[in-house]
Amino acid sequence: MKKILSIENLTLIAIILSVPFGIYFKELSINISLIGTIFLNLLKLVIVPLILSSVLVSILGLNSLTRIKEVGIKTLIYYMSTTTIAVITGLLIVNFFGFESNAEFSGKEFSLDKEISLKDFILSLIPSNPVESLAEGKVIQIIIFSILIGMALLKIAEDKRSVIFKFFDGLNDGLIVLTRWIIYLTPLGVFSIVSSLVAEKGIDPILGLWKYALAVFTGLLVHAVINLGLIAYLVGRFNPLDYFLRIREAVIVAFSTASSSATLPVSMEVAEEKGGVKKKTAGFVLPLGATINMDGTALYEAVAVLFIASIYGIELGLYQQIIVALTATLASIGAAGIPGAGLVTMVMVLNAVGLPLEGIGVILAVDRFLDMLRTSVNVWGDLVGTKVVDRFVK
Ligand code: ASP
Repeated sequence: MKKILSIENLTLIAIILSVPFGIYFKELSINISLIGTIFLNLLKLVIVPLILSSVLVSILGLNSLTRIKEVGIKTLIYYMSTTTIAVITGLLIVNFFGFESNAEFSGKEFSLDKEISLKDFILSLIPSNPVESLAEGKVIQIIIFSILIGMALLKIAEDKRSVIFKFFDGLNDGLIVLTRWIIYLTPLGVFSIVSSLVAEKGIDPILGLWKYALAVFTGLLVHAVINLGLIAYLVGRFNPLDYFLRIREAVIVAFSTASSSATLPVSMEVAEEKGGVKKKTAGFVLPLGATINMDGTALYEAVAVLFIASIYGIELGLYQQIIVALTATLASIGAAGIPGAGLVTMVMVLNAVGLPLEGIGVILAVDRFLDMLRTSVNVWGDLVGTKVVDRFVK
C-alpha cells in the first residue's frame, strides 16, 4: 500500500485529476492557484544556495584540476552531442510529417520587448559581481563563479580549504533535506499548477494546432525513448526504464512547472538518493545541465521554426535546415530554465533564416503545453547525462 501511495504515484494521479478539475471547476482552480505558487516559491528558495554549494563541493571533491577538466569536457561533449541528435530528430520528424502552408494563421500580431544578440548572450555569462548574480538568481553566472572559485581554492593550503569544504558540504546536505520536505508537497502543488493552467487557457488551442503539437510531441517522444534510451543502454550501460522509474518524480515536476531550474533541487535529490549517482557527479553535471542542456527545447525550436516557415509558404532547403539545426542548438543553450524561455530564444533561429518574428504569435496558444513536454525531456536528458557521465568518473 505504501508503495502504491508513494509521492511519485500521488503526483501522477494529481496531474491526471487536475485536467478535468481545471475544466469543470474553473473558478475554484484559479482560486487555489496560490498553493502552486507557494510550492514553486519553495523550490526556488532552494535553487541559488543549492547551485552554489553543490558545484563548489563537487569541484573540491574532484580534487584536481586535471580531473575537473576531464569531467567538464566529457560533460560538455555529452551535452552538445545529445542536443544535436535531438535537433536532427526534430528536423527528420517535420520532413516526415510535412506541414502544409496555412494562410489563415499568418499575420497574427506578436511583438518582442527585447531582441537578444549573440554578443549580449556571451556577455551575460560572465559575472561582474557574484553577490548580484546570487541575488538575482543568474544561474549560469553562479555556476561560472562557483567553478572558478572552486578551482582557485584547490590551489590554497589544505587546512584552509577543508574548512570551506565542510561548510558548503554541510549546507548542501541541509538543502537536500529541505528539498525532501518540499517534495512532500508535490502532489498538491502540481495539482494546483496544472488545474489553474487548464482553467485559464483551456485545451481548445491544442485542437487548432494539433498537427504542429503532434510533431513536437512525436519528436520529443522519439528522442526521450529511443535516442536517450539507446545512449543510456549503450554508453551508460544502465537500464533506462528502471532508471526512469526511479527518478520519475523529477520528470513529473518538470512537466508541471515547465522549469528546469525549479526542478533542479528535485533532480539532485532523486539522482543521488534513488538513481545511484555519485554526489560529486550530480552536483556538477546537473546544475550545468539544467541551464545549458536542453534537448527538448532545441528539438521544439527546430520543429517550430519549420512550422512557421510553412505557414508563410516558405520551404527551407537543406542548407537552411542546417542553419536551423545549429542556431536551435545555440538558442537552447542560451534559454534559461524557466517557463517560456525557449519561445524567446527562438528569435535567434528565426533571424538566422530570415523568417518573420511575428510567426511566433501563431504558436503562442499551445506554447505552455509544449513547454511542459519539452521541459520534461530537458530534465530527463540531464538525468540520463548525469548517470552516463557518472560511469566515467572514478
Ligand atoms: N521551460 C524550459 C525549461 O525550463 C525552457 C524552454 O522554455 O524551452 O527547461
